[in-house]
Amino acid sequence: MIRKTRLFTPGPTPLLPAAQFAMAAADIHHRTPEFRALYLRVLSQLKEFVGTKNDVIILSSSGTGAMEAAVSNLTSPGDRVLVLSAGKFGERWTALAKAFGCEVDLVSEPYGKTFDLDKVKAALKLETRAVFVQANETSTGARHDMEALAKLLKDQKSEALLIVDGITGLGTTHLDMDATGIDVLIGGSQKAVMIPPGLSYLAVSQRAWDRMEATYNPRYYFDLRKERKNAKNGESAYTPAVALIAALGAALDWIAAQAATPDNPAGSLAEGRKKLVDNAETISAMTRAAVEALGFKLFSDAPGAAATAVYAPEGVDSGVIVKELKSRFAAVITNGQGEMKGQIFRIAHLGFFDYMDTIALIGALEQVVVKSLPQLGAKFGDGLIAAQKVYVERTTKA
Ligand SMILES: *Cc1c(COP(=O)(O)O)cnc(C)c1O
Repeated sequence: MIRKTRLFTPGPTPLLPAAQFAMAAADIHHRTPEFRALYLRVLSQLKEFVGTKNDVIILSSSGTGAMEAAVSNLTSPGDRVLVLSAGKFGERWTALAKAFGCEVDLVSEPYGKTFDLDKVKAALKLETRAVFVQANETSTGARHDMEALAKLLKDQKSEALLIVDGITGLGTTHLDMDATGIDVLIGGSQKAVMIPPGLSYLAVSQRAWDRMEATYNPRYYFDLRKERKNAKNGESAYTPAVALIAALGAALDWIAAQAATPDNPAGSLAEGRKKLVDNAETISAMTRAAVEALGFKLFSDAPGAAATAVYAPEGVDSGVIVKELKSRFAAVITNGQGEMKGQIFRIAHLGFFDYMDTIALIGALEQVVVKSLPQLGAKFGDGLIAAQKVYVERTTKA
């Protein structure tokens, strides 16, 4: 049998063809009117994509660069900050905040869990300057509740900025930065926006811009105020990743067009974003139903729509399932990260995944289960039938 390689990984994700073409054609210099027009257009599209009226900054870096920029630009040495951590990316916030001299208070939950708001409330101090969290913890598949967290900070009249790693939360969660009350919302290119790795972006509230006037941690390449000043004129401070910016523009056009109507063929980003999220919600629900019907157990009790994390059966290394899907069907899923390596596997849903991809992956997983995991007691069709039912329920309601 021939095999087509297909990514089912939560970043990098499958590439959108229209974005690949835009990238190949992006033979332009970054100090020209052509680039300025492109950059201004993409920056304004991003605002709509994240739901803010405030300025958005694009950086030429992977997502962690924007996380670092949030810490270096918004804190000073000795600042008290609160990190909410329940996985590998939460741990990254702690490491970054410590690297920049912050005093870190930690609310830590086991991998796979989400946060108890009472514990967060108890850990929040009068002098807490910022709260760092993931909207979606990719290492465990858990979704954390940003609305509830923002409300808590507001009710407590906290001065703390709410700084959210939305790298896999964006495009998989109905999240509107301004309406929710998030101060910094971070995204990355290789996730729901369906383009290669190499760009990150941050939306920054007025409160956070004001904070930057007084903070003094060292920063140079990732200086958000400098980038903001240049961006007003359609430029970035240094040579930007021009081709990726062209790709991002094409991807955002495509997302907007998902909400096209006869009267408005270009669609709208605010509406297209909802469709992208609904898509991820539906295929993640199909996947959860399928793996449970096959006898697997879900890892997280607060599963999000970016990726589904699943326990390998007792005594089985999850790497065996990852390997078998790759060697037999060229389907690339991911192992657990950090302390969950070998215990769980993860299947992604964010970005350019559709019904066909999802059904095919479930079919391939059934082949692995029937051949190599007889202890689950599943037979052909168990997963597919469960997924088909979820698909019908979800798509006929609307
Ligand atoms: C992918 C990801 C990141 C960023 O990782 P990079 O490798 O730097 O792009 C950060 N947070 C979350 C939740 C992620 O999924």
